[in-house]
Amino acid sequence: MNIAPLTAPLPDSYGRLLTYLRVSVTDRCDMRCIYCMSEDMTFLPKAEILSLDELGRLCASFIRHGVRRLRVTGGEPLVRRDVMDFFREMGGWLNRPDQQAGLDELTLTTNASRLAEFADGLRACGVRRVNVSLDSLDPDRFRRITRRGNLARTLDGIRAARQAGLDIRINTVAMAGVNADEFDTLIAWCGEIGADLCLIETMPMGETGEDRTDHYLPLSDVRRDLQQRWTLEPLTYRTGGPARYARIAETGRRIGFITPMTHNFCESCNRVRLSCTGRLYTCLGHEGSTDLRAPLRAGADDVQMMDHVRAAILRKPRGHDFLIGRNADDPARVTRHMSVTGG
Ligand code: SAM
Ligand code: SF4
Repeated sequence: MNIAPLTAPLPDSYGRLLTYLRVSVTDRCDMRCIYCMSEDMTFLPKAEILSLDELGRLCASFIRHGVRRLRVTGGEPLVRRDVMDFFREMGGWLNRPDQQAGLDELTLTTNASRLAEFADGLRACGVRRVNVSLDSLDPDRFRRITRRGNLARTLDGIRAARQAGLDIRINTVAMAGVNADEFDTLIAWCGEIGADLCLIETMPMGETGEDRTDHYLPLSDVRRDLQQRWTLEPLTYRTGGPARYARIAETGRRIGFITPMTHNFCESCNRVRLSCTGRLYTCLGHEGSTDLRAPLRAGADDVQMMDHVRAAILRKPRGHDFLIGRNADDPARVTRHMSVTGG
């Protein structure tokens, strides 16, 4: 059992307390989604990637300093060998006594290709909620978007997660001319399977071999259009992430909107991201990051590590500055891929 007193929490220079950590456990993936990776993606050399022990040690330090929610992501987290050992270790931080450092929630974001294999194990580690990325229910379209995904496999994974009793949120990247005609189908399907749906605006991150300016779709327009056919009742419900929710009266399920491009969601941002190489990113929309791997591998103790973290958090910017289409030849305003930082 992990017992640790809560050490001083981590405020940034705007007074936002850091309570939410997203950790990318790998940059590798069995898909190549058009908005996320290039077709011939070069992955990082293994030596650059933190071991699961190293990741566990860093995450434990964050938890001791007030992080209450941990989301495991990637790349595809479930393709990392022995990733369940990591979930087991992090699960040990759940349900700690009051006043002790610990997690309120352990979650993951996955493409579900291997969820059928791991759903029961994740539940046993204390996971109660998963975000599953799914941009289309049409097998051919799904294949085109993911470049190598198999819709049937992803649906098997979703089924297994439901059977294991996990709450599911489907994440759909909204793309003009790609899947914009499917939102009604996705809303109805999520109603049938008892899942929430979250629509995400395409963010200009990393080269993918696709021009995202062609596909950019403001969710304010999508919402207006959906409201012609569905009754959207705004909700105050939050999951700690950037999504804003409404309930769809006709299905009883929630719909979320993540709108980094049309809405500035930074004021209440309590998140930082730890990449699989041990870089700490305090803002998804900025290049700035802090290397934690070098001090970790040089033998820094926890106090020294947290000095690095504290300094990084004080540099967390007030907000991001994504702007798609400012320069059509170079839509990637942030050069790193989402799969390195973790979406
Ligand atoms: N492989 C897992 C998955 O797809 O769910 C986890 C990692 S993936 C990078 C996390 C999330 O980032 C996914 O929901 C994906 O749709 C989203 N994502 C990736 N690139 C994006 C982009 N350029 N704009 C918006 N969302 C993106
Ligand atoms: Fe892989 Fe997820 Fe990126 Fe798709 S969005 S390529 S599934 S990491």
